[in-house]
Amino acid sequence: MAIGKAIGIDLGTTHWYALIWVAFKLKPDNRTAVWNNDGVEIIPNDQGNPTTPSYVAFTDIDCLIGDSAKTQAPLNLHNTIFNVKRLLGRAFPAPDIQSDVKRFPFSVIDKGLKPYIRAQRRGRMKVFSPEELQSMLLAYLKKAAEAYLNDTVTSAVITVPAYFDFAQRQAVESAATAAGLRVLRLISEPSCAALTYGLTMVEPAHAPRVLLLDIGGGSTNAQLFTMEEGILEVWGVAGVSHLGGDDFDSRLVAHLVQEFRREHGRDLTGNASPLFRLRAACESAKRTLSVETEANIAIDWLWPGVDFYTTVTQAQFEEVCQDLFRLVCDPIEKVLRDAHVEKAQVDRIVLVGGSTHIPGIVQLVSDFFDGKQVTRLDQDAIVAHGAALQAAVLSGQDSARLQEFLLLDVTPFSLGIETAGGIMTPVVRRNTTIPTRKMETFTTTFDNQPGVFIEVYEGDCAHTEDNTLLARVVLTGIPPAPRGVPRIEVIFEMDLNQHLVVSVTDTATRRSNKVAVQSEKRGLTDSEVVDMVVNANTAAARAAARARLVRYVDGLRDTLRELRPAVERADAWLEETQDVFVPEYDAQRERLEAVARPLAERFAEAAAGDGLDGVDIPEGDVVDEEMLRNWAVEVVGPDYVPPADPDVDMED
Ligand code: ADP
Ligand code: MG
Repeated sequence: MAIGKAIGIDLGTTHWYALIWVAFKLKPDNRTAVWNNDGVEIIPNDQGNPTTPSYVAFTDIDCLIGDSAKTQAPLNLHNTIFNVKRLLGRAFPAPDIQSDVKRFPFSVIDKGLKPYIRAQRRGRMKVFSPEELQSMLLAYLKKAAEAYLNDTVTSAVITVPAYFDFAQRQAVESAATAAGLRVLRLISEPSCAALTYGLTMVEPAHAPRVLLLDIGGGSTNAQLFTMEEGILEVWGVAGVSHLGGDDFDSRLVAHLVQEFRREHGRDLTGNASPLFRLRAACESAKRTLSVETEANIAIDWLWPGVDFYTTVTQAQFEEVCQDLFRLVCDPIEKVLRDAHVEKAQVDRIVLVGGSTHIPGIVQLVSDFFDGKQVTRLDQDAIVAHGAALQAAVLSGQDSARLQEFLLLDVTPFSLGIETAGGIMTPVVRRNTTIPTRKMETFTTTFDNQPGVFIEVYEGDCAHTEDNTLLARVVLTGIPPAPRGVPRIEVIFEMDLNQHLVVSVTDTATRRSNKVAVQSEKRGLTDSEVVDMVVNANTAAARAAARARLVRYVDGLRDTLRELRPAVERADAWLEETQDVFVPEYDAQRERLEAVARPLAERFAEAAAGDGLDGVDIPEGDVVDEEMLRNWAVEVVGPDYVPPADPDVDMED
């Protein structure tokens, strides 16, 4: 495969950014200039916007992605999908997923305990996995980046919340693979923000301890790190996966639904269209309340014959969100406790993410730290920026300067095995620096036990039943011995992408077995993966082709607008002029040409130079789906075909 450019992607719940690190802008002798920095560039989408809403929509004829999907949402509520990131890698029955499902205007169904999205595409009902929808977003983004860079983009560093678990990370990786992106690294969002922030920091005498809190649309993550001599060391992460701006919006919506019922005697519950409009108004009011003490809400015809006008005060907003706001400090507390660091020992408190605009939240964090100053970083693409820097390093587009920079990240959850009585016995504890290799020795529970059956779990609950089962490893052929005598070594190895390999060895015989934990085996089937590749690529190609056509039509329209007056003048002249000398006709013709020719030239130029030349973009509907499918089976297939007995891979 040709080595194309690598990009950094901040795939947020609500919006995403893609950034590229551009080598020629680097000033090698001036560190701050690099870090501050002009080396990273934001890639606009095909509408020219720096961020893209994480929306996918299906219509009778088309699949829309990003801005165009979000714009048409009110007219196509049931087939416009957003917040997919909240569903990725999750179990359908989870209570937080259930409450999301209730508020989504689109339908989410239970398929093998996973949430799948049902929508109507080109007149037919179809079920999509969250991975599939996410891969459409990623494929679209890849296309936008290729158009912008006039080069192929083959790999990416993609951000995930620090508190994403194994299944969630795997879901993102599957989506990226299907979109044709090799994942150089999945890197945690706060680590990316910390990288960007750390690099702008003038290095003080001692390494400051920084607490970074990221509250976005869907999740809240806290991270404690230090930055010293080019090493960014993460001390710990903690998070709440369903706490963010969307949840605050939901509270405000619920509050106003009640008010509407009181005032107008109508219940909006279950009515997708008014609820959607109310939610949009609430989101916007929430933003206003970050700077004003009150916000007006005015929605005409919210209910047939009923307009809704009301005012929400900052105090009311804070009251309805009070308990949620208070949860924001929990991860901070947990991180500090895990790292054995006192509040007073934190040198800097840094806030990122859209929801940290909310004054009530800033106040709570400041109060938590006994009034210490809190800094909000107002650089929107701060997370993507860190990802782009990592992409530069990992794809080798980099100079020695960047290479000097080392990120020591941690694993967010403990990993361990089940021991007698269903007890979770951690082998790798949470907040262990990765990569890591940990060994524990176990033994048998019965006399002459011929083998061991090891269940690998992820999580921090005392009992395995409350944690997540990742894999099973079996080791047989243990020579007869009284219980407690055989020494069975269990080794957990985790790489930088948090891929886990567990091996089990009987020290007496050196017999061993090993399994690489792969959750897609529990998730998507082979044919689903292939479908996903085909859909992601055709949808992105369509979206790109559509954007090209829109640009072309816009250009033509502008040209027509400028041309029309000249044509009309010429028409009028012809009408009132009957019989004149040849030079007069020619002069008239030249006058018209003087207007038309530059327009035609300009237009031809614009059409030729829309940045897409030389980029291998499959052409909209002429994409040969069969070819794509074969390619998918060939390229993606082998990685996804589980062996006959997926979890056991006997060595020796
Ligand atoms: P993500 O990374 O999850 O996509 P962002 O960090 O971009 O999220 O934050 C998006 C969230 O921040 C949304 O819920 C949005 O409503 C909220 N938000 C953005 N600006 C403001 C503001 N000025 N006041 C309050 N909330 C805001
Ligand atoms: Mg974010």
